[in-house]
Amino acid sequence: MVDLDLPEPCRGEVLVRVEACGIGLTVVNYIDGELGDDPSFLPRIPGHELVGTVEAVGPGVDPARMGERVMAYFYLSCGRCPRCLEGFEPLCRDFGGFLGVARDGGFAQFAVLPEFNALSVPADIEAVDATVIPDATATSVHVCHRSTVRPGERVAVIAAGGGLGLHMLQVARAFGAQVVGLDVADEKLAFIEDELGVAAIDSSDFADTRLPASWDGTADVIVDFLGRPDSARWAIDNLDSNGRLVCLTVFRDTGFPISQRELVLGQTAVIGSRYCSRTELQTAADLVLCGVVKPVVSRKAGIAEIGSVIQELRAGSLLGRGALVW
Ligand SMILES: [Zn+2]
Repeated sequence: MVDLDLPEPCRGEVLVRVEACGIGLTVVNYIDGELGDDPSFLPRIPGHELVGTVEAVGPGVDPARMGERVMAYFYLSCGRCPRCLEGFEPLCRDFGGFLGVARDGGFAQFAVLPEFNALSVPADIEAVDATVIPDATATSVHVCHRSTVRPGERVAVIAAGGGLGLHMLQVARAFGAQVVGLDVADEKLAFIEDELGVAAIDSSDFADTRLPASWDGTADVIVDFLGRPDSARWAIDNLDSNGRLVCLTVFRDTGFPISQRELVLGQTAVIGSRYCSRTELQTAADLVLCGVVKPVVSRKAGIAEIGSVIQELRAGSLLGRGALVW
């Protein structure tokens, strides 16, 4: 922990006083260099799920934004290229990297963001609750859009007890789907059943993991947050015809075999889903505001405790998400 000078917003930027910032597995991944390992990035303040209030604006930013309650959009996209303009900001053709990786993020009292990345969030949503909007909830909204989840469809979520998974279950249910959550830890399985009212399935061994008999043992959509060869293979084997496997978690040099025959005979789709659009952040905020999605933040930490929360994330023992609070 170090004292730094108060950063100043440059042209097109805003200074945000951080109220809270989420601590999830994505942070662990980029601390490990998975989202960029350029040595010139260091030292760096991590933290991309920040919520706070605009305290100052740089040249070119409407001064009316002072005092606005904002949340951060994770991707440093340009906002002007064809992909950004059509609402696929994560596929930006002039992509500038990630908040918390290519520029300082929210594990600090103040953060400077491009105005593009500071999106309005209602003051009625408590700061810690709001930290689950920009990534965990909004990413789940994008998954439902990508995989065209329809009312009544059966959606299974692999690694449902993690920070993303617990919100994915709730968002898929908000889209009208029937949902089940797969995970391995008893505490996570119990939380999924008792707190979310969602059926939980122990997937410690994929060879013995079955979807509900009432679903005929298959699903229309399987969301794989594990990203392992065995999880993806299990998903393909347990999809109904017209099924969709959604992949979000990736590791370098990891893949799984699939035949064209399987894809054609079942008319199966394997879909990559990348973060979300800024509009989907607003949808996610609405879902939290109206109470359809209940934020799951099991650990609130001061700045000095962030290291121990990250250790819990590495050990897989944290339920839902953690959050830094000031
Ligand atoms: Zn762009």
